[in-house]
Amino acid sequence: MPSFENQRFFIKTFGCQMNVADTERMASLLADQGMAAAEDPNQAQVIIINGCSVREKAVHKALSALGEFQFLKKEGAGPIIGVGGCVGQLDKDKLFKNAPYLDFVFGTDTLDNLPEMVHRVRNGERHFVHADFDKSLDYSTETKVFGFKAQAFVNIMKGCDKYCTYCIVPYTRGKEKSRTIDEVVSDVARLVATGVREITLLGQNVNSFGKGNPNVRGRVPSELHNIIGKVGPRAGEENFPQLLRAIDQDPRCADLQRIRFTSSHPLDFSDELIECYAPASQGGVARLATHLHLPVQSGSNAVLQKMGRHHQIENYIAQMDRLRELSPDVGLSTDLIVGFPTETDADFQKTIELLDRVQFDNIYAFAYSPRPGTRAAKMKDDVPAKVKNERLVHLLNYQIKIAEKTYASRIGKVLEVLVEGEAKNDKLMRSQPEAQKNSGGKVWTGRTSCNRVVNFFSDSPRSLIGKMVPIRITKATGLSLQGEVELESLAAERVANRFLS
Ligand code: SF4
Repeated sequence: MPSFENQRFFIKTFGCQMNVADTERMASLLADQGMAAAEDPNQAQVIIINGCSVREKAVHKALSALGEFQFLKKEGAGPIIGVGGCVGQLDKDKLFKNAPYLDFVFGTDTLDNLPEMVHRVRNGERHFVHADFDKSLDYSTETKVFGFKAQAFVNIMKGCDKYCTYCIVPYTRGKEKSRTIDEVVSDVARLVATGVREITLLGQNVNSFGKGNPNVRGRVPSELHNIIGKVGPRAGEENFPQLLRAIDQDPRCADLQRIRFTSSHPLDFSDELIECYAPASQGGVARLATHLHLPVQSGSNAVLQKMGRHHQIENYIAQMDRLRELSPDVGLSTDLIVGFPTETDADFQKTIELLDRVQFDNIYAFAYSPRPGTRAAKMKDDVPAKVKNERLVHLLNYQIKIAEKTYASRIGKVLEVLVEGEAKNDKLMRSQPEAQKNSGGKVWTGRTSCNRVVNFFSDSPRSLIGKMVPIRITKATGLSLQGEVELESLAAERVANRFLS
């Protein structure tokens, strides 16, 4: 392929962490061809929109971004423009009707061919779609990261076999298939060798990881159970707790600090996975972060049934209770939909009661919008938009009060924070004494193991990105924590020569 040197690309990403990881992969593939990232689309020769179609609003956002980029095309000249992600997978050539200036469309299984597609456009081809599903039964890949980061997303499985009635994902990402444990562990070890200290294992339903992969190494646990009675992989297949333990125990991953994962379904959230959250001295997985994102969607059994979730709210609560028994400080987050067809005020009240009962740190809540092609789209969308919005606002406000309380309970504690970068909000910097402001130090942001955002000031002129820093929490809001570097703990860490050396 001819070179792309001196060319720049700009990728606009919408949607979930799977799309964020896919964008990173695309950026890395284009960089391998000699291209550099542009901060501004006006400076780019290649523009890609990585769109999400999980909600109507997300699709509109991707299409309106596409509309804005048309002004960069002038009489046939201008940047090459492509649309990918779930929007490309689902809408394919329909996209050219409303956006004739769009050059190509690709899908979720074809993004590795991105450089080739860009070349095809450079060679004069236009309006082609490359969005076939990969029909092979196995899944093998190698994680690609763009630039140095302490965190990396690692895709471990793709697709979803759950077919919740409202969800378009099984149609845009296909059937479930998983990488092998050996392949994932080697991939993680390679990332750790480059400086990665935290990984997030990704998939639509990571808890069903391993289905169809024979457990040739006889890893334990050999089969999974839960109170709902139906759990992902069968006995004799690889499974997710085996993967967590294999990463945690591999000597090549010794410098890894944290393992996270997302996303999951309560049906596949096994007892054996809950046991991974126990302290290491009691058989838990030492580096598993004390955070769980487990989407529940509604607090009402009647609504859960209509959503095709196949579990009851009592099952979910029992899972959270058992988890808290083993890991009292675990941070919990969830996804919720309000205004699903037939949802009554009483059903909605059950969702509010669920917030009270579980005490989530964080929720991701949305008003229901039908997605064409799903089973729920055939149901009457009978909750008026005004009611949906009122319920959404009430839910978010209610949750903020809960989070304010749970976050405030951390004040005075020392938490280990993995630094992600410089904080964007300079309020904390402005509040520092003059001497500190002039010290050359910076305000940094990072996350605790339980996934809470922490901002702190450090007078160190060195970059703290990727470092684990002990922070004494001094202030809390419903969204983040603020603190100070704990000098005593820091001195101990230095003596141990582990971090900040
Ligand atoms: S489990 Fe998640 S991705 Fe799969 S269908 Fe249900 S909501 Fe969609």
